[in-house]
Amino acid sequence: MSAIANPTRSTDGADFDVIVIGAGFAGLYALHRLRQQGLTVRVYDAADGIGGTWWWNRYPGARVDFLGGPFYCYTFSEEIAREWDWTETQPDQPAILSYLNFVADKLDLRRDIQLGTQVTSPRFDRSDHRWHVTLGDATPASCRFLICAAGTLSAPFEPDLPGLDQFTGEYFHTGRWPQDDEVSFAGKRVGVIGTGSSAVQAIPIIAEQAQQLTVFQRTPQFTIPAANQPMPAELLTESQQNWTKTRCEMLESPAGAPLAYGERSQRSALSDTADRRNEVYESLWHTGGARIVFSSYNDLMTNVDANQTIAEFIRTKIRETVTDPATAAKLLPDHLFGTKRVIPNTNYYETFNRPNVTLVDLRADPIHSITATGVQTASGEHPLDMLILATGYDAMTGSLRRLNPSFGATNLQDKWADGVRTYLGLAVAGLPNLFMVHGPQSPSVLYNMPLGAERQTDWIVECIAALDQRGVVEIEPAAAAEDEWAARVSALAGTTLYPQAESWYMGSNIPGKPREFMVYLDALGYYQTLEQVAVAGYAGFVLT
Ligand code: NAP
Repeated sequence: MSAIANPTRSTDGADFDVIVIGAGFAGLYALHRLRQQGLTVRVYDAADGIGGTWWWNRYPGARVDFLGGPFYCYTFSEEIAREWDWTETQPDQPAILSYLNFVADKLDLRRDIQLGTQVTSPRFDRSDHRWHVTLGDATPASCRFLICAAGTLSAPFEPDLPGLDQFTGEYFHTGRWPQDDEVSFAGKRVGVIGTGSSAVQAIPIIAEQAQQLTVFQRTPQFTIPAANQPMPAELLTESQQNWTKTRCEMLESPAGAPLAYGERSQRSALSDTADRRNEVYESLWHTGGARIVFSSYNDLMTNVDANQTIAEFIRTKIRETVTDPATAAKLLPDHLFGTKRVIPNTNYYETFNRPNVTLVDLRADPIHSITATGVQTASGEHPLDMLILATGYDAMTGSLRRLNPSFGATNLQDKWADGVRTYLGLAVAGLPNLFMVHGPQSPSVLYNMPLGAERQTDWIVECIAALDQRGVVEIEPAAAAEDEWAARVSALAGTTLYPQAESWYMGSNIPGKPREFMVYLDALGYYQTLEQVAVAGYAGFVLT
């Protein structure tokens, strides 16, 4: 469907049909699709290269952890799928960045991407029905539709640790790892604060190189073997040669990646004897990745007793792996399994058997301050040459709140001050002609993200085309549709154990952030709903 020219359209200067914020998986695909539609598009990204999260996250060990290629990639082009050979089941950051650069070149995307450009102060003006933004160098730009594809885990969180600015050694955040300089750990005393996914990937590699590594842990995590391996040739060939079939299977799978997750179990963990359960868990433990979650039992995330069976299985694995019982005890998680993101690891627990690695349990021995030369906890100072914060992100809403789009009296920061309100995780009442990819209250982080980006973007592009055909100049959700959507998100979450944890899914890693579950848990139902909304003439939206 090609777009019918809109009277407000301009191809001159910095006035576009669409501005896309973010040049990661989502933004690059949006550019491709919108251009196919005959629209003028400009993608802006603050980074000096394309790649989004894969541009910034260059810390040692960064790689896809759950979904392996050939599933963590674009699906829309059989040609691209056939031309790109993934070499590992969980490709590392350089491989993914190379892939995105390959796609950008193949689709000739770069001519419409402006890097090193922060977009600020987007404001909608009803007099011309356009979004007006300010670019980093104070240049204005405008568009009819603003697409925010700035990432769900892209606003790094630096906790307010007293004295942090006093530290005189090398200092890094995993989410803002240096782009050009190789960071050397050799001969250094390195400290890592945090034990989430980023830390769990980085710690084993840093430990191999550093003179001494001190890990500051607040909450022990459940981590499972990643089992990364060279990409099996038959899997790659089979998927490439039958890409249409592969793609269909991905679209039909609840998580967007059938083989990576295995067959979904239909059985309760409580229907088996303890011995049988352990056999099931043991066999799936060795296959690695998320299969132990999805292919074992169907009630691990809905029934506390079922959840405790896998939690105890993993705690036993930790006790068996970590040789010092006191260290093992500190590593035992006590929250419900999976309610904080489960973390695939490579040699994480084994790392604590190394003589140069120390684990500090911050619950028993809290941080008092950061000093010029290290970290001062209740028990004393831990001298460091390098301090790494692996303290995560203001997830789901952070990049959008920081952008803070506004229209009249409405702005996103105020609107979401007491909780997120969106319709379909795609749009916000009071902010016309704005779309989010991987917005809060969409399946986002609990679905294959490149595939989710394609599906949401396809919907947005088709929506814009339909609006142009009908001569509609503004679209925004009805407030009632937002309320109903929030209730659906919350009702789905309420059928699971997710809300019971203090996690970034719940916003509770950020001081003062409203505590609420921000992911739409039924991805298959979600994409059916998107289709129904479109077929019904964009039900729930107000069209002007
Ligand atoms: P994270 O999961 O939020 O972990 C942050 C860590 O920092 C937690 O251990 C947290 O402890 C700790 N922390 C925060 N504030 C602290 C403080 N004031 N004092 C001490 N410790 C503090 O962040 P992340 O590891 O960067 O991962 C975020 C998400 O990004 C992941 O869950 C995942 O979705 C994504 N990710 C994906 C990949 C991949 O696919 N390859 C890799 C990395 C990250 P508490 O638990 O006590 O809050």
